[in-house]
Amino acid sequence: MVRNNESKKNPQPLVDRISAAMFHNSGLFLRKAAEEIASHTDTGSDPFDVDRATLVIVLIQTAVELASTAMVLKHEGLAEVARPKERPLSDADAEARWEAGTIKTLTFEDLKPKAIKYLGDESFWTIVESLQKSRNKLVHFHAPLVEGDRFDLQYEATHILIQIIAALTKSDEHEFAFSCMSFLGHKLFHRLISFEPYKERIGNRAREIDPEPFLCGVCGTRAFLRDEKTCLSCGYSGGVKLLRCSQCHEFAVFYDHLNLPYNAWLNARCGRCEWEGEAVHCNKCDDDYLTEGHSMRTCPNCDE
Ligand SMILES: [Zn+2]
Ligand SMILES: [Zn+2]
Ligand SMILES: [Zn+2]
Repeated sequence: MVRNNESKKNPQPLVDRISAAMFHNSGLFLRKAAEEIASHTDTGSDPFDVDRATLVIVLIQTAVELASTAMVLKHEGLAEVARPKERPLSDADAEARWEAGTIKTLTFEDLKPKAIKYLGDESFWTIVESLQKSRNKLVHFHAPLVEGDRFDLQYEATHILIQIIAALTKSDEHEFAFSCMSFLGHKLFHRLISFEPYKERIGNRAREIDPEPFLCGVCGTRAFLRDEKTCLSCGYSGGVKLLRCSQCHEFAVFYDHLNLPYNAWLNARCGRCEWEGEAVHCNKCDDDYLTEGHSMRTCPNCDE
């Protein structure tokens, strides 16, 4: 009886509501961390000062832990994130204990092996490991962060940040339909990823995975992995459509294919060579094609 009333009141399953709340909070911390990082990148290439480093580490680490728990919760259910002795006995019990705030989740150490299945790659978890150590040093031992660590942090924090946001974007297109850019806002996003040390190191990391990454059509960093169809720098992925370049003949021309039908033309740029031009949508055959500067806009498919 109770359960019927509950389900009428809350049509969305409890697990979805909890994980959505956790993703939301993770996003909150990520955005704050992004603001901290970006306001530093305005001032040049010095390492973070100790206060900023402390804030960034704690914000990012908290966001990672929340996102990890939420991912496992969403995919594997409440029993898999609760401590063994704390597992709820029924849906109603879970509901009541969630409202009372008495569900104790596994420690991050115990959650990590599960979260790896849903979030980040190898380099992501290596960085998380080092952030966690720094956080423990700061919070529990008040140990100072040396300058080298504070310098590396600028790259590491941005890398982690973009990867979590990208994972959130991918996890459920309808519920978390925000790209990194719309999530952080255009200005903040661009300040964050255009920071030189980040661009350089994320480019190196991309070349370890793909020897010839494309220049990303969104952020302009050479970090777009061809097989994964994902940009390591800005997280752009999913639904990427590329056209064949008339100059280098590779399928490497980026354009905004989703918005093209609503525009007479849009800018297009090759991620392999230097070619730039325009993409046009043909309403007759529903295909997209490329043109150069002042050439006539006739669809090559419908031409004859
Ligand atoms: Zn990109
Ligand atoms: Zn080209
Ligand atoms: Zn056509």
